Formats: sequence, C-alpha cells, structure tokens
Amino acid sequence: MSDDLRDLYQDVILDHGRRPRNRRVPEGANRRVEGFNPLCGDRITVHVALAGGRVVDVGFEGSGCAISVASASTMTEAVKGKTVAEVEELFVRLHDLVTGQGGTPDLDELGKLAAFSGVSQFPLRVKCATLAWHALREAVAGGGESITTE
Ligand code: ZN
Repeated sequence: MSDDLRDLYQDVILDHGRRPRNRRVPEGANRRVEGFNPLCGDRITVHVALAGGRVVDVGFEGSGCAISVASASTMTEAVKGKTVAEVEELFVRLHDLVTGQGGTPDLDELGKLAAFSGVSQFPLRVKCATLAWHALREAVAGGGESITTE
C-alpha cells in the first residue's frame, strides 16, 4: 500500500472496511439494486425495505475494495430511518465531499461520512466511495435493478 493510500484509509474506513455493518438482506426488503464499478471491480448490491417514503431498513451484499465496502457500511448506518428526500440530500453532500465541490463540508452533519473527505484527492476512488450510494438512490427511486459507474 502506498503512503498516499494509507493516508486515505482513515480509522473509520479501516474499521468499516474490515467489519462492515448491515451486511445482510434486511427483513421486509422490497428494493434491490446491484452496483458495479468496473474500474475497481467493486460489486455491491443494496437492499432496502422502503415503506411510506422512508428507508425502514437497509443492508448490502457483495464485495469490493475497502473504500467501497466501508462506504456501503457507513451509508447503511447513515440512511436508516431517513425519508427518500433526506437520502437524496445526504447523497448530494457526500458527492460534494468526495469530489471536492460545494465548499467547506459540514462535518458535524456528515458524521462518519466525513471520513471520506480524503477521497477527493484520488479521483479514481470517487467511484468506489459513491457506488453504494448510486445503487441506493436508484433503489429508493424505484428505478432499474442494476447500475454501473461507467
Ligand atoms: Zn473500489
């Protein structure tokens, strides 16, 4: 691992990459979207139990690099119980964070997701960090069954 990558792998990312939370199909799951990032080989399927416009429960399956898995793991913790509109809001914040747009991020609001701020220095890793989010977005919108970052 290069020094650059080591800097990128902050504690939260390491922790969630090694011991992912909510790596399961939640009870009552009624939406699933598979996300594929061919650049890195990440393959993450997001399962959502959606009811009344709210994410009642969420989990994921699949495998990929530590960043894609840690992103999926922290995402499931961040969006559980949120409305579809709130999910969209968080997605935009995270996307701004990892692409270095949108000025100074509000780290308090982002919580653990702030760990991904270092990704903005590694453009190729942006797709790893947003893969599960793209799949989640598609899942709550009721769109297709799979997405790819290409
Ligand atoms: Zn990756």
